Amino acid sequence: MRKISRRTFLKSSAVVAGSAAVSISKHGLASPVHQDAITPKLAQLPYADIQLLDGPLLEQFNKNHAFFLNLDDDKLLKPFRQKAGLAAPGDDMGGWYSFSKDFDPPRNFTGYVPGHTFGQYLSGLARAYAITGSKPTQEKVQRLVRGFAATVSEKFYVDYPLPAYTFDKTNCGLIDAHQFAGDPQALAVLNHATDAVLPFLPPKALTRPEQEARPHKNIAFTWDETYTMPENFYLAYKRGAGDRYRQLAARFLQDDTYFDPLAEGRNVLPGEHAYSHVNALCSAMQAYFVTGSEKHLRAARNGFDFVRSTQSFATGGWGPNETFRKPGSGEMGESLTSTHASFETPCGAYGHFKIARYLLSVTGDSRYGDSMEKVLYNTILGAKPLREDGTSFYYSDYNNSASKFYHQDKWPCCSGTFPQITADYGISSYFRSGNDLYVNLYVPSKATWRQNGARCTLTQHTSYPYSPETSLALQLDRPETFAILLRVPAWAGPKTFVSVNGKRVSEAPAPGAFFSVKRTWQDGDRVEVSFDMPMQLEAVDPQDAQTVALLYGPLALFAIGDAALDVNRSQLLAAQQTSSGSTDWLLQTGSSRVTMKSFPAIRDEKYRLYHEVKG
Ligand SMILES: [Zn+2]
Repeated sequence: MRKISRRTFLKSSAVVAGSAAVSISKHGLASPVHQDAITPKLAQLPYADIQLLDGPLLEQFNKNHAFFLNLDDDKLLKPFRQKAGLAAPGDDMGGWYSFSKDFDPPRNFTGYVPGHTFGQYLSGLARAYAITGSKPTQEKVQRLVRGFAATVSEKFYVDYPLPAYTFDKTNCGLIDAHQFAGDPQALAVLNHATDAVLPFLPPKALTRPEQEARPHKNIAFTWDETYTMPENFYLAYKRGAGDRYRQLAARFLQDDTYFDPLAEGRNVLPGEHAYSHVNALCSAMQAYFVTGSEKHLRAARNGFDFVRSTQSFATGGWGPNETFRKPGSGEMGESLTSTHASFETPCGAYGHFKIARYLLSVTGDSRYGDSMEKVLYNTILGAKPLREDGTSFYYSDYNNSASKFYHQDKWPCCSGTFPQITADYGISSYFRSGNDLYVNLYVPSKATWRQNGARCTLTQHTSYPYSPETSLALQLDRPETFAILLRVPAWAGPKTFVSVNGKRVSEAPAPGAFFSVKRTWQDGDRVEVSFDMPMQLEAVDPQDAQTVALLYGPLALFAIGDAALDVNRSQLLAAQQTSSGSTDWLLQTGSSRVTMKSFPAIRDEKYRLYHEVKG
């Protein structure tokens, strides 16, 4: 094991400071140091340029922002201080986050991966600062980075079961603190933390069987996720942490067992851990952006296509019991009676949004946006809020006797991805291409950008998908010419139409594509979209066509109660919304009237997603 002297640390910090001659802009944001080899068709807007307006997305973001802003620094830093032999005041957070002698995998997960989500909480706060400009949030990020810096040492990873898993999140938090919260030390701290973890990492990304074949202290030591690291290594390189991060990224790309077969169109997902393998597709995308490797783009596209077409429930969620299934095995349908752990929701939704955003930006294919809105309305927006003691929502339940429940362990992985995905709602909603603006999500929000020096703002008001329409208003310093591209979901019916200033556009929008409205816009111009939102049935497995869920546009409808319904297809399709904008529908079956609700509207009642239909 290599010892890191203070001299080495200072040297690597100086290298970082030299290479990271970053320009700092509004809200302390840093510009990238290394440009991508690939310029995607659609560009993401900065966090600050998209503001959510009143509605369920803003409420969830605000709750998570306030929650982590108020979480005690000493408690957050405690596991790192303890391992470094420093004074460690404050209470243990408990659950997965604090060291515990009770840890006994796979029976007891108390003390599983101490400090694992620290980087994600830091990342969520840094992104929240980029969105809101909240000074206390920036100060908290910088305080946590300083506090963490004092603890960094190899000692942390001695006898630590998942070093790559935790380090990947730490990396993400530090590069976000640098990029989004203008933290002047974060990259130097990252370099030091990288030196500390390297002796504990294997030479390449390892599968679980490869880890099982190596000596291991207990089963948890075979669960590390080395294959997710390249994404953040590439981002660290691009943000100026130094060239070794590009080399580390390449070293941990899981080409042999994952990306090579996926790139060749072989579905190697079945049996794999679901979220971490979706997350790994984001590493393939960063390899494509940084190096231009077409193989990695193909791997990510094919992998995500397999997820959407062979592993997904009607909600857009995937991976029952966190495991991908063999297509045609009937295991998706079997999961409706065998498990309540149907979809790992905050982590899964976070990974899903990230890979969909990358692929949407490269391809311009609106269907990636369709999959994002399904996951949004049917999974993450219905997640129960975090509780002060770390009690977290983890699994969505699609069992035939389902309910919403919190996870048994406090501070699990999903408590880390929850503040990250809610901070990413804005950047997932709009994109730019040249002068054109893409509207990807129909959510109450405001996007601002500059064109030829003129300030342009688009404000969206909507209660979509509960009302099948949205309204967009422009504020412009002066008339400007550009296209607004509206995502027309693949499910949209023939009566979908677009209006400009109250006048219907004659061309019919094609489903499954972006519909372009180009003109010279004036201040005060309005665009309205009216969606023909059909009722549709979706089978759980292709070979089990009688087990179906009901969808209204992107929205899955859950029958309240867990009794098997005496219902046929036409009765399901005739369910009626109780009033426009309502979250409730009424279903008349052969024998009773049943209320159906969207996932966010469900509280503590039992519910059921899939129904056996007759005929
Ligand atoms: Zn999770």
